Amino acid sequence: MTRQRLLRLKSVLDRRQPDLTVLMENVHKPHNFSAILRTADAVGIFEAHAVHPTGGVPTHHDTAGGAAKWVYLRVHPTVEAAIAHLKARGFSVYATRLSPSAIDYREVDYQKPTAVIMGSEKWGVSEEAAGLADAEIVIPMVGMVQSLNVSVAAAVILFEAQRQRMRAGRYDRVQLDAETYHRALFEWAYPEIARELREKGLPYPPLDDDGGIVWPEGALPWTSS
Ligand code: SAM
Repeated sequence: MTRQRLLRLKSVLDRRQPDLTVLMENVHKPHNFSAILRTADAVGIFEAHAVHPTGGVPTHHDTAGGAAKWVYLRVHPTVEAAIAHLKARGFSVYATRLSPSAIDYREVDYQKPTAVIMGSEKWGVSEEAAGLADAEIVIPMVGMVQSLNVSVAAAVILFEAQRQRMRAGRYDRVQLDAETYHRALFEWAYPEIARELREKGLPYPPLDDDGGIVWPEGALPWTSS
Protein backbone atom coordinates (compact mmCIF):
# COMPACT_ATOMS: atom_id res chain seq x y z
CA MET A 1 0.00 0.00 0.00
CA THR A 2 1.52 3.28 -1.07
CA ARG A 3 0.44 6.64 0.31
CA GLN A 4 -0.74 7.58 -3.18
CA ARG A 5 -2.94 4.48 -3.33
CA LEU A 6 -4.36 5.21 0.12
CA LEU A 7 -5.26 8.76 -0.94
CA ARG A 8 -6.90 7.43 -4.09
CA LEU A 9 -9.06 4.97 -2.13
CA LYS A 10 -9.99 7.71 0.35
CA SER A 11 -10.89 10.18 -2.38
CA VAL A 12 -13.39 7.65 -3.75
CA LEU A 13 -14.84 6.80 -0.32
CA ASP A 14 -15.09 10.52 0.47
CA ARG A 15 -17.64 10.80 -2.34
CA ARG A 16 -19.62 7.60 -1.82
CA GLN A 17 -23.38 8.14 -1.44
CA PRO A 18 -24.76 5.53 0.95
CA ASP A 19 -28.32 6.79 0.49
CA LEU A 20 -28.41 6.43 -3.28
CA THR A 21 -28.73 2.98 -4.78
CA VAL A 22 -29.98 0.80 -7.59
CA LEU A 23 -31.95 -2.44 -7.30
CA MET A 24 -31.57 -4.81 -10.25
CA GLU A 25 -34.61 -7.04 -10.50
CA ASN A 26 -33.63 -10.12 -12.48
CA VAL A 27 -31.28 -8.24 -14.79
CA HIS A 28 -29.92 -11.52 -16.07
CA LYS A 29 -27.56 -10.57 -18.90
CA PRO A 30 -24.05 -10.37 -17.43
CA HIS A 31 -22.95 -7.47 -19.63
CA ASN A 32 -25.96 -5.39 -18.56
CA PHE A 33 -25.57 -6.28 -14.91
CA SER A 34 -21.89 -5.41 -14.99
CA ALA A 35 -22.45 -2.20 -16.93
CA ILE A 36 -24.91 -1.04 -14.25
CA LEU A 37 -22.36 -1.79 -11.53
CA ARG A 38 -19.79 0.20 -13.47
CA THR A 39 -22.18 3.14 -13.67
CA ALA A 40 -22.96 2.76 -9.97
CA ASP A 41 -19.26 3.08 -9.19
CA ALA A 42 -18.92 6.14 -11.41
CA VAL A 43 -21.91 7.83 -9.80
CA GLY A 44 -20.64 7.12 -6.30
CA ILE A 45 -23.05 4.41 -5.17
CA PHE A 46 -21.71 2.59 -2.13
CA GLU A 47 -23.94 -0.48 -2.19
CA ALA A 48 -26.12 -1.83 -5.00
CA HIS A 49 -28.89 -4.40 -4.64
CA ALA A 50 -29.98 -7.30 -6.77
CA VAL A 51 -32.61 -9.97 -6.97
CA HIS A 52 -31.64 -12.82 -9.19
CA PRO A 53 -33.55 -16.03 -9.82
CA THR A 54 -30.51 -18.26 -9.48
CA GLY A 55 -29.34 -16.49 -6.33
CA GLY A 56 -26.05 -15.93 -8.14
CA VAL A 57 -24.69 -12.74 -9.59
CA PRO A 58 -24.22 -12.47 -13.34
CA THR A 59 -21.25 -10.12 -13.42
CA HIS A 60 -19.07 -9.91 -16.45
CA HIS A 61 -15.59 -8.85 -15.47
CA ASP A 62 -14.65 -7.02 -18.68
CA THR A 63 -17.81 -4.93 -18.73
CA ALA A 64 -17.66 -4.15 -15.04
CA GLY A 65 -14.16 -2.75 -15.51
CA GLY A 66 -13.39 -4.01 -12.00
CA ALA A 67 -16.35 -2.07 -10.55
CA ALA A 68 -17.61 -5.17 -8.73
CA LYS A 69 -14.62 -4.74 -6.40
CA TRP A 70 -15.63 -1.23 -5.42
CA VAL A 71 -19.41 -1.36 -5.20
CA TYR A 72 -20.84 -3.56 -2.46
CA LEU A 73 -23.60 -5.80 -3.73
CA ARG A 74 -26.41 -7.12 -1.57
CA VAL A 75 -28.37 -9.97 -3.13
CA HIS A 76 -31.93 -10.48 -1.84
CA PRO A 77 -34.03 -13.63 -2.16
CA THR A 78 -37.09 -11.80 -3.50
CA VAL A 79 -37.94 -8.34 -4.76
CA GLU A 80 -40.39 -7.97 -1.85
CA ALA A 81 -37.54 -8.60 0.62
CA ALA A 82 -35.31 -6.16 -1.24
CA ILE A 83 -37.87 -3.36 -1.17
CA ALA A 84 -38.71 -4.02 2.49
CA HIS A 85 -34.98 -3.80 3.30
CA LEU A 86 -34.68 -0.46 1.51
CA LYS A 87 -37.86 1.04 2.93
CA ALA A 88 -36.83 0.05 6.46
CA ARG A 89 -33.73 2.18 5.90
CA GLY A 90 -35.73 5.19 4.77
CA PHE A 91 -35.27 4.92 1.01
CA SER A 92 -37.90 6.14 -1.41
CA VAL A 93 -38.19 3.43 -4.03
CA TYR A 94 -38.79 4.25 -7.70
CA ALA A 95 -39.73 1.63 -10.27
CA THR A 96 -38.58 2.39 -13.81
CA ARG A 97 -41.54 1.60 -16.03
CA LEU A 98 -42.75 2.38 -19.49
CA SER A 99 -46.26 3.07 -18.27
CA PRO A 100 -48.45 6.08 -19.07
CA SER A 101 -48.83 6.87 -15.38
CA ALA A 102 -45.05 6.99 -14.75
CA ILE A 103 -43.59 10.43 -13.99
CA ASP A 104 -40.63 11.95 -15.84
CA TYR A 105 -37.45 10.76 -14.07
CA ARG A 106 -36.23 14.38 -13.87
CA GLU A 107 -39.10 15.30 -11.54
CA VAL A 108 -37.72 13.16 -8.72
CA ASP A 109 -35.79 14.73 -5.84
CA TYR A 110 -32.73 12.45 -5.72
CA GLN A 111 -31.25 14.27 -2.76
CA LYS A 112 -33.54 12.20 -0.56
CA PRO A 113 -32.53 8.59 0.14
CA THR A 114 -33.36 7.01 -3.22
CA ALA A 115 -33.43 3.53 -4.69
CA VAL A 116 -34.13 2.99 -8.39
CA ILE A 117 -35.43 -0.40 -9.55
CA MET A 118 -34.25 -1.56 -12.96
CA GLY A 119 -36.15 -4.39 -14.61
CA SER A 120 -35.29 -7.43 -16.64
CA GLU A 121 -34.55 -7.08 -20.32
CA LYS A 122 -37.62 -9.06 -21.33
CA TRP A 123 -40.26 -8.42 -18.69
CA GLY A 124 -39.28 -5.10 -17.17
CA VAL A 125 -39.96 -4.29 -13.50
CA SER A 126 -42.51 -6.77 -12.10
CA GLU A 127 -46.04 -5.84 -11.06
CA GLU A 128 -45.11 -6.86 -7.51
CA ALA A 129 -42.19 -4.45 -7.39
CA ALA A 130 -44.12 -1.64 -9.04
CA GLY A 131 -46.95 -2.11 -6.55
CA LEU A 132 -44.55 -1.78 -3.62
CA ALA A 133 -42.62 1.18 -5.06
CA ASP A 134 -43.39 4.76 -4.05
CA ALA A 135 -43.73 5.86 -7.69
CA GLU A 136 -43.03 4.83 -11.25
CA ILE A 137 -40.56 6.86 -13.32
CA VAL A 138 -39.84 6.91 -17.04
CA ILE A 139 -37.28 8.39 -19.41
CA PRO A 140 -39.41 9.98 -22.12
CA MET A 141 -39.05 8.15 -25.44
CA VAL A 142 -39.93 9.98 -28.66
CA GLY A 143 -38.42 7.60 -31.21
CA MET A 144 -39.54 4.43 -32.90
CA VAL A 145 -38.29 1.97 -30.29
CA GLN A 146 -40.21 1.44 -27.07
CA SER A 147 -37.40 1.18 -24.55
CA LEU A 148 -33.72 1.76 -23.85
CA ASN A 149 -31.19 -0.89 -22.96
CA VAL A 150 -31.45 -1.37 -19.20
CA SER A 151 -27.88 -0.28 -18.49
CA VAL A 152 -28.33 2.86 -20.57
CA ALA A 153 -31.56 3.68 -18.72
CA ALA A 154 -29.80 3.15 -15.39
CA ALA A 155 -27.01 5.51 -16.43
CA VAL A 156 -29.38 8.24 -17.55
CA ILE A 157 -31.28 8.18 -14.24
CA LEU A 158 -28.32 7.72 -11.92
CA PHE A 159 -26.36 10.55 -13.50
CA GLU A 160 -29.38 12.82 -13.02
CA ALA A 161 -29.23 11.82 -9.35
CA GLN A 162 -25.53 12.61 -9.34
CA ARG A 163 -26.15 16.00 -10.99
CA GLN A 164 -28.70 16.99 -8.37
CA ARG A 165 -26.49 15.81 -5.53
CA MET A 166 -23.38 17.54 -6.87
CA ARG A 167 -25.28 20.78 -7.17
CA ALA A 168 -26.30 20.40 -3.53
CA GLY A 169 -22.70 19.78 -2.42
CA ARG A 170 -23.33 16.18 -1.43
CA TYR A 171 -20.01 15.09 -2.96
CA ASP A 172 -18.08 17.76 -1.10
CA ARG A 173 -18.50 16.21 2.33
CA VAL A 174 -18.15 12.63 3.51
CA GLN A 175 -21.50 10.83 3.62
CA LEU A 176 -20.39 7.48 5.07
CA ASP A 177 -20.40 7.05 8.84
CA ALA A 178 -16.94 6.57 10.39
CA GLU A 179 -17.36 2.83 11.05
CA THR A 180 -18.53 2.02 7.53
CA TYR A 181 -15.79 4.21 6.06
CA HIS A 182 -13.08 2.37 7.99
CA ARG A 183 -14.53 -1.04 7.15
CA ALA A 184 -14.62 -0.25 3.43
CA LEU A 185 -11.18 1.37 3.42
CA PHE A 186 -9.66 -1.65 5.13
CA GLU A 187 -11.39 -4.10 2.79
CA TRP A 188 -10.38 -2.14 -0.29
CA ALA A 189 -6.80 -1.72 0.87
CA TYR A 190 -6.28 -5.23 2.25
CA PRO A 191 -8.93 -7.60 0.84
CA GLU A 192 -7.06 -10.80 1.76
CA ILE A 193 -6.28 -9.76 5.32
CA ALA A 194 -9.82 -8.44 5.73
CA ARG A 195 -11.17 -11.86 4.71
CA GLU A 196 -8.91 -13.64 7.20
CA LEU A 197 -10.01 -11.30 9.99
CA ARG A 198 -13.70 -11.77 9.14
CA GLU A 199 -13.31 -15.55 9.14
CA LYS A 200 -11.72 -15.33 12.59
CA GLY A 201 -14.36 -12.91 13.84
CA LEU A 202 -11.69 -10.28 14.54
CA PRO A 203 -12.13 -6.51 14.09
CA TYR A 204 -10.19 -4.57 11.49
CA PRO A 205 -7.29 -2.69 13.12
CA PRO A 206 -6.75 1.01 12.44
CA LEU A 207 -4.61 2.24 9.55
CA ASP A 208 -1.87 4.80 9.97
CA ASP A 209 -1.47 7.93 7.80
CA ASP A 210 0.46 5.95 5.19
CA GLY A 211 -2.12 3.17 5.08
CA GLY A 212 -0.08 0.74 7.18
CA ILE A 213 -1.98 -1.60 9.48
CA VAL A 214 -1.59 -0.74 13.17
CA TRP A 215 -1.68 -4.24 14.62
CA PRO A 216 -2.40 -4.57 18.33
CA GLU A 217 0.90 -5.36 20.05
CA GLY A 218 2.60 -5.40 16.67
CA ALA A 219 1.67 -8.98 15.78
CA LEU A 220 -0.53 -10.55 13.12
CA PRO A 221 -3.43 -12.02 15.12
CA TRP A 222 -3.34 -15.40 13.37
CA THR A 223 0.40 -15.87 13.77
CA SER A 224 0.64 -14.70 17.38
CA SER A 225 -1.41 -17.52 18.92
N1 SAM B 1 -40.54 -5.06 -22.29
C1 SAM B 1 -39.99 -4.43 -21.14
C2 SAM B 1 -41.02 -3.53 -20.46
O1 SAM B 1 -42.11 -3.43 -20.98
O2 SAM B 1 -40.75 -2.96 -19.41
C3 SAM B 1 -38.82 -3.62 -21.58
C4 SAM B 1 -37.74 -3.72 -20.61
S1 SAM B 1 -36.40 -2.63 -20.92
C5 SAM B 1 -35.59 -3.34 -22.25
C6 SAM B 1 -35.39 -3.08 -19.56
C7 SAM B 1 -35.42 -2.13 -18.41
O3 SAM B 1 -34.74 -0.93 -18.80
C8 SAM B 1 -36.74 -1.67 -17.91
O4 SAM B 1 -37.32 -2.60 -17.02
C9 SAM B 1 -36.37 -0.38 -17.20
O5 SAM B 1 -35.77 -0.69 -15.96
C10 SAM B 1 -35.30 0.18 -18.11
N2 SAM B 1 -35.79 1.12 -19.13
C11 SAM B 1 -35.66 1.01 -20.44
N3 SAM B 1 -36.18 2.07 -21.07
C12 SAM B 1 -36.66 2.88 -20.10
C13 SAM B 1 -37.30 4.15 -20.11
N4 SAM B 1 -37.56 4.80 -21.24
N5 SAM B 1 -37.65 4.69 -18.93
C14 SAM B 1 -37.37 4.05 -17.77
N6 SAM B 1 -36.77 2.86 -17.71
C15 SAM B 1 -36.40 2.28 -18.86
